[in-house]
Amino acid sequence: MRPTAVSMETHTEPFDVEAVRQHFPILQRRINGNPLVYFDNAATAQRPRCVMDAVQHYFEYCNANVHRGVHTLAEEATSAFEDARSRMRKFLNAASNREVIFTRGVTEGVNLVAQAFARPRLNAGDEILITHMEHHSNIVPWQLVCEQTGAILKVLPINQRGELRLETLDELLSPRVKMFALGHVSNALGSINPVRDLIASARAREIPVLIDGAQAAPHLPIDVQALGCDFYCVSGHKMYGPTGIGVLYGRESVLDSMAPYHGGGEMIREVTFKKTTYNDLPAKFEAGTPNIVGAIGLGAAARFLSEIGREQIVDYENNLTNYALQAVSSIAGLRMIGTARHRLGVLSFLLNDVHAHDVGTLLDQKGIAIRTGHHCAMPVMDFFCVPATSRISLGLFNTCEEIDYFVESLAAVRKMFA
Ligand code: PMP
Repeated sequence: MRPTAVSMETHTEPFDVEAVRQHFPILQRRINGNPLVYFDNAATAQRPRCVMDAVQHYFEYCNANVHRGVHTLAEEATSAFEDARSRMRKFLNAASNREVIFTRGVTEGVNLVAQAFARPRLNAGDEILITHMEHHSNIVPWQLVCEQTGAILKVLPINQRGELRLETLDELLSPRVKMFALGHVSNALGSINPVRDLIASARAREIPVLIDGAQAAPHLPIDVQALGCDFYCVSGHKMYGPTGIGVLYGRESVLDSMAPYHGGGEMIREVTFKKTTYNDLPAKFEAGTPNIVGAIGLGAAARFLSEIGREQIVDYENNLTNYALQAVSSIAGLRMIGTARHRLGVLSFLLNDVHAHDVGTLLDQKGIAIRTGHHCAMPVMDFFCVPATSRISLGLFNTCEEIDYFVESLAAVRKMFA
């Protein structure tokens, strides 16, 4: 069934994809003579006009450093920056703004937790549990901390559908595990992990949990309190905000128990050569001048998603994903990599033995932007014994017509190699 308008009881405005598309100026572009079809949202989404306006307004109207000044611009910049924090608190349903740390993105959030939380708590022989479907950003920081401490990295396996093999969880969550870090949604397979249950299992054993929410934040409502995780990371640019900005949510008591990650301005209370004391949360983890305009843009993106209605986005994108799955199943020679039952609109596939880069380049000729490669998830590629896949990743501005056009174009690519 084609999703066009979705009406939800909780939201007065029906989801109107044509109206949503009007917010994204880039969708007016033509690429190689064709209208742009942007199917690379998992790499980075496009920005709505309101994000650009918020960024421009800050530069044109109140550009100043935050927190330090007494002049008007400094006060206005600080209030815009802190408003953005409040928006992100609401977006994640954190209990307090002190739990919302601005970072450069998920990568920095995971590194912060690995170094400032895990490292001082780890001894040789302790274990860190991740899963086989993690992005490199949720693998390498743990490998680094393992090298530093003698801890051991353990991996929760996946099955041929690209789902976690939950039957292995009990044994893997042994008393040696001191940290469990996993993705909410796989960027390579689209699988949605049952994070709520996994967090509950870990917490019942007093194992702290970090969730990489890079691919979940743009698509699913997130409630960190209901989830019960200790840490949750998001990236601005995946959720229609700017690059180089993200949020690390941390439970206040946990953040309080940690030493700072980076040292410098903003994170201090008092500095002498003898001793430095640290600022309160969240400043303790925000050393140096922050990405002020990035945070303001991210706040605007969070507001944009909330105003459209997060439940409505879920409904629209679910229908769109089902439509896409149905449509690609009609293409002879297409093999899906990742067929999880609970999934988002990230579709990885192989087309006969055509190299993924050829698929990507030929689709670009038609104006269709897809991603090809290992998607920063090499262990997933190894598991499926493929060097690379082609991947489409849908966002809230994509349409069934675009999917039809993609399927038609892909069929033409297949014929070229027949
Ligand atoms: N985790 C996942 C699942 C991702 O998809 C990405 C981005 N591709 C990251 C982490 C890293 O995000 P960033 O580069 O914004 O830090």
